[in-house]
Amino acid sequence: MTSASHLDIHRERMIDEQLIPRGIHDHATLAAMRTVPRHLFVDDAMYSCAYGDHPLPIGSGQTISQPYIVALMTQALQLDGNERVLEIGTGSGYQAAILSRMCERVFTIERIDSLLVRARKIFDKLRYHNIISRIDDGTTGWPSEAPFEGILVTAGGPKIPEPLLEQLADPGRMIIPVGDQFVQELQLIEKREGEVNIQVIEQVRFVNLIGDHGWAG
Ligand code: SAH
Repeated sequence: MTSASHLDIHRERMIDEQLIPRGIHDHATLAAMRTVPRHLFVDDAMYSCAYGDHPLPIGSGQTISQPYIVALMTQALQLDGNERVLEIGTGSGYQAAILSRMCERVFTIERIDSLLVRARKIFDKLRYHNIISRIDDGTTGWPSEAPFEGILVTAGGPKIPEPLLEQLADPGRMIIPVGDQFVQELQLIEKREGEVNIQVIEQVRFVNLIGDHGWAG
């Protein structure tokens, strides 16, 4: 068993060695990454590698993203604390937990039941009560709660799902991996005064976004 203080040291090191040197500078993002206990979102057996510079398996063939990618995507949304953010692909719940420390409310959708059940237990344990979740195909968004000032998609699809673009507030930002099933580009979509601007952030590799506006299951 790895002691709590040991894990705190690993978490500090993750910030100093993996995030800051690679250009993560947003104060709120760094504060959230410093606060949220990432090890609770992986299996007990993997506690000691929870803060490593890599993704980790979380069961059902899915992964929790590398810390740097979580930070990069979060920073790209430029949150100031008042937003309602939609996340597609709850997975372990770690990304939703980070977002929840930085905005008003997080709406997160997962398609695999067992993953969401596990993530919800951790949200409860940590008392992260501003995370609202449900099981569904996230490529159709969450119309009854739209619009969202921020949308973050943590699985890669062939294109930007049209319903998500419609449900993005104006002004609003969406970050999403788009490409084939092996490699994608991380795209930052900014909506402002009715115009949509797309910027490529970097090459990434995510699990498949499966659904009506993603890959076939
Ligand atoms: N954000 C997660 C990353 C999980 S990996 C974390 O912090 O751990 C991506 C997740 O997206 C997987 O759990 C997968 O089941 C889910 N997913 C894929 N397609 C989806 C869809 N259409 N709707 C909702 N979730 C989806």
